[in-house]
Parts: sequence; C-alpha cells; structure tokens
Amino acid sequence: MSMWQRCFKRPAATDYHPEDCLGSGDCAPVQLTYLGTAGFVLQGYERTLVLDPYLSRISPWPLLTAPLCADAARLARYIPVADDVLVGHAHYDHVLDAPCLCQQTGARLIGSSATVMVGRAAGLPESQMLATRGDEDIACGLWRVRGLPSRHGRVFGRIPFPGDISEPPAWPPRLHTLRHGLVLNWAVEVAGLRILHVDSADYIEASLQGQRADILCLCAVGRQSRPDYTRAIIERVRPRWVIPCHWDTMMTPLESPPDLIPGVDLPGFLEEIREAGAEPLLLPLLGRMRFRPAVESGRV
Ligand SMILES: [Zn+2]
Repeated sequence: MSMWQRCFKRPAATDYHPEDCLGSGDCAPVQLTYLGTAGFVLQGYERTLVLDPYLSRISPWPLLTAPLCADAARLARYIPVADDVLVGHAHYDHVLDAPCLCQQTGARLIGSSATVMVGRAAGLPESQMLATRGDEDIACGLWRVRGLPSRHGRVFGRIPFPGDISEPPAWPPRLHTLRHGLVLNWAVEVAGLRILHVDSADYIEASLQGQRADILCLCAVGRQSRPDYTRAIIERVRPRWVIPCHWDTMMTPLESPPDLIPGVDLPGFLEEIREAGAEPLLLPLLGRMRFRPAVESGRV
C-alpha cells in the first residue's frame, strides 16, 4: 500500500445510497445532485438552485502558488442551467466557481457582502447579485430561501483564512485573499419540503431556533472540534434524512472516485447520524436523489 493510499482512503461503492425517490404522496419530486465539497444542485418547481458549487477542484501545487481560476468548461458541462447560486461563505472552495457559473447561466449570486465583493471582482453586474446579512426571506419563484447567520468550523483546531472581504479582491484571486466573511447556513423550502444546508462544521444555536428540516446537508470536516455537533443539530432541526458533505479532499478529478479528507471518519459520521435518529444518505460525487414534498405528520 502506498503512502498516498494509507493517508487518503475512499468510500467503497457499497457505502453510497443508491439513486432513489424518497418520501410519499403525489407531489412532483425535487431532484438533488451532490457536487462534492459542500456543493448541491436543487431542481424542480420551475427553478434550479445551486449551493456552494466547486467543480474546479484545483490540485495542491497551483492552489498554493498561483491565482485561482474556475473551470468554466466543467461548470458548463455539469451545471448548464441555474437561477440562483447560494454561497455559504467566501472561502475558495465555496465561492470561486460561483461568479463564473452566474456569468454562464445568468443566475443570481446570493450571499454575504464578502461573496458579493467576490462577484464584483469577477465582473458580475450589480443587478445579478444579492447581498444578505441573514434572517431575511429571499423570494426565488416558488421557492423560499433564508440565510441563517452561522460560524465557521475549526479545521485541525483553527479557523482557516479568517476575516472579511471589504473590497473586491484582485481577480483571479489567490487562496489567502478569500476570507470567509459572514457564514450563512441556508434554509431552503419549496412545497413544504425543507432543506437546511450547513457548509461548515459549526452553527449558532439561536439562529436555528424553531428551524425544522426534512433534509439536512451537513458538513463532515472539522466536526470533532465542536462537542456533540452531530447529535445536537439533529435533535434541534429533526431532519428525516442527513446528507454528509465536505468529506472529500476536493482535489481528485470530479469524474474519479473521491478521496476522504484524513481524519474525517465518514463511517463514524454515518453512525453518529443514525444514533441521533436520522437516516444518513451518503451520495457519490454527481449522485442524485429525488424527494417528494409531502409533509409528514409529526414532523412539523
Ligand atoms: Zn471554509
């Protein structure tokens, strides 16, 4: 076994949940596609919402030594259509691809003021961007979107690239110029189906007060830094399903089997989710799942 294989394990094909249509009732389903990192596409009800797209998956040497460029061709191939692009925070693995995706699709860029500074740097017009401080309902056709102020998790004991972005950074940006800014969890709802997206392994209890979700997209990396992270958030928002995200190294090609971030303990995460009373749905990169928006009694 090589040193690489010892350090970077990967899920077995059998660990993944097969593509399925979950929920009951006659409503048209919402399709969810996992993009790797913290990225998702939600499609249905006349709209395509994209959360934290990062398909460029830049390898370590250029990541550390060169300006960062989005992979426009890959974005066009895998996300040809988008109406709204929601960014949870302005680190490169959440924000870098978003302006390019908006330019190619005409989608709105929605996020913190730091995210809008990044959009401005990339040349997006003001009319195509929406800044939010959180706790505001944002109309998106039949969908409703709300950012919930949150906190960035600690990775290996510290918050990477802390701080805000108060003016447009040089473009293309360097890794260290993309500070996280305001961190937002996204509460997204359509036809009674509630999805909560947590793209970094921390949260603010008060922001989640009264929040319920059917589907919780939950960050895996860094969760050990917050005691009781998994059980506490599941008890609070009571999801039926939890989709782990942010568990792969983000450096393998999108089309190849992903490597796990060392120390992320994905089997342990799945067990924590089960023990907290929710069903884990581990999806492969580009894996899809459909959910019928039927509100179950006892879950509202
Ligand atoms: Zn981050």
